[in-house]
Amino acid sequence: MLRMEVDEAVGLVEQGKLKLYELEKALGDANKAVEARRRFLERRLGLELKAIGSTVIDFNKVVGRNIENPIGAVQIPVGVAGPIKVEGEYAKGLFYVPLATTEGALVASVNRGMKLVTESGGARARVFRDGMARAPLFKLPSLIDAVDFVRWVQEHFEEIKRAAESTTRHGRLKEVQPFIVGDNVWLRFVFSTGDAMGMNMATIASEAAAKYIEEHYPKARLVALSGNMCVDKKPNAVNFLMGRGKTVVAEALIGRALLEGMGVTPEAVHEVNVRKNLLGSALAHSYGFNAHFANIITAIFLATGQDAAQVVESSMGITWTEARPEGLYISVYLPSLEVGTVGGGTGLPTQREALAMMGVAGSGDPPGTNALKFAEIVAAAVLAGELNLIVALARNELAKAHQALGRAK
Ligand code: NAP
Repeated sequence: MLRMEVDEAVGLVEQGKLKLYELEKALGDANKAVEARRRFLERRLGLELKAIGSTVIDFNKVVGRNIENPIGAVQIPVGVAGPIKVEGEYAKGLFYVPLATTEGALVASVNRGMKLVTESGGARARVFRDGMARAPLFKLPSLIDAVDFVRWVQEHFEEIKRAAESTTRHGRLKEVQPFIVGDNVWLRFVFSTGDAMGMNMATIASEAAAKYIEEHYPKARLVALSGNMCVDKKPNAVNFLMGRGKTVVAEALIGRALLEGMGVTPEAVHEVNVRKNLLGSALAHSYGFNAHFANIITAIFLATGQDAAQVVESSMGITWTEARPEGLYISVYLPSLEVGTVGGGTGLPTQREALAMMGVAGSGDPPGTNALKFAEIVAAAVLAGELNLIVALARNELAKAHQALGRAK
């Protein structure tokens, strides 16, 4: 088929003879389509989109996978924090962590926290629960039918598992968590997903499971493949208690002398944590019993190609401290950290390099170990960020740091 050139395509879009989303097909090259779309917008809006047009992304590799109607890319500065010493089950050693942000003071803050953690012997980290959830919603004729249905599902777990796993090499159905309200039944399918964050994988597998269920239990009608008990991209209690993605913890003991050298005591830092992160958050009925998990999670998610909207539940969690004779015990609990090292945006060139900086790009050997290692590093970085911020608050220097680092002329 004869392909048209960019100018001709822009003209056809302007005449209304070609839709913006048809440019890839018309030009036979996604990079040319990006250029044509941008040129059309530049003319229509009377401005230049030169910066948006400057990117290393090859759109032939991302259209149909990561983006529709692309016009270029936005760039976010990336800083590095570390090294931080991590003693995980999978992450062992010193790690430099890339943080993509436009918030001045953030990288410096995490960096100082990492220095304190590393000088105190490092952070220990563990993933103690792992599973991506998708919860289809079924309607039954009555509440009694709903209860019978749940029993049937439990008795036929192996068949449902086989149907689900027929769609994937790495996805494994671990359990089905049922919830009943009236004649509604949610089946919260929990999958291990290898090195993938697993949301597409779990959705595709859940669809196959739901099809099997509808075929073999005709009284159950699928209302929605996602019934909002999953829970994806919404603040919620389910993930907080039952986990989603990686449930990960990290701890460190920060030496008393180190803190005292900075003009604070472990007792003063602990007091800030209890009164602010625990009591203040209780009063606010917050899901974030922490100082700023979201800052570190967002910056790492953006740098490494995670699904940024999952910052919502990935940033839930608790910071726990104790003042001990030796120093400050600090620990973070992240119940729903949704991360992957394959799939989604992790394959984009800059994001893949960022993952490679931590030795976690692509598939692990064996599969799944890269994502677990990455989760441990993220938890250690979050711990460092928490530590530094509560130390800064105890020293009453928060506003000062933001004035110096966030308001440069
Ligand atoms: P994905 O890229 O859709 O799936 C991962 C792919 O990598 C699968 O084809 C898998 O093959 C393959 N793979 C190769 N090596 C692997 C390894 N070591 N471990 C695991 N998989 C491996 O990624 P995903 O994590 O499932 O989904 C992430 C995407 O879902 C993001 O783009 C996110 O924005 C999007 N998302 C989707 C929904 C939804 O409802 N569908 C919701 C939120 C977000 P096998 O499957 O054969 O193992």
